[in-house]
Amino acid sequence: MKKQKFFQGLLLIIIVIALGFVARQLRTGVSTSAATYDRIMVDIQANKIFIQPTVVSAPAPVPADSPFSAGKNAYPAFKCMKDGTIFAYEEPSLSPGSQQVGPRCPVCGGSDIMPPQLPAGQKSMDITGPVQTVKPTPVS
Ligand SMILES: [Zn+2]
Repeated sequence: MKKQKFFQGLLLIIIVIALGFVARQLRTGVSTSAATYDRIMVDIQANKIFIQPTVVSAPAPVPADSPFSAGKNAYPAFKCMKDGTIFAYEEPSLSPGSQQVGPRCPVCGGSDIMPPQLPAGQKSMDITGPVQTVKPTPVS
């Protein structure tokens, strides 16, 4: 009788440890699949570019919420390498088979476009507005 109780208790402890192990495994599994990358966004209301950690696998709707203003004012930010214009690009939601041209500078029409760089260590930076929004042009 006493021995049986002892084994029941032991079994319970083993089950608890095993469950804890499984839970830990599940948690690490989630954190590895939810890898993030730093996206350079621009708030067209607050005239700020900022880094937004974005989950790789999750859909990133545009425009997105901005931490600097109320409402959805954040767009992916791009900078013209020719004249330094920073603009918001309304990224197309890519559907299979659709083709899009990359963003072009709203000032000079150039296609030498890069995401703007923030000064090292900074998460956001003021820019001079108004920030133009460029819409994607579908290939016909
Ligand atoms: Zn330009």
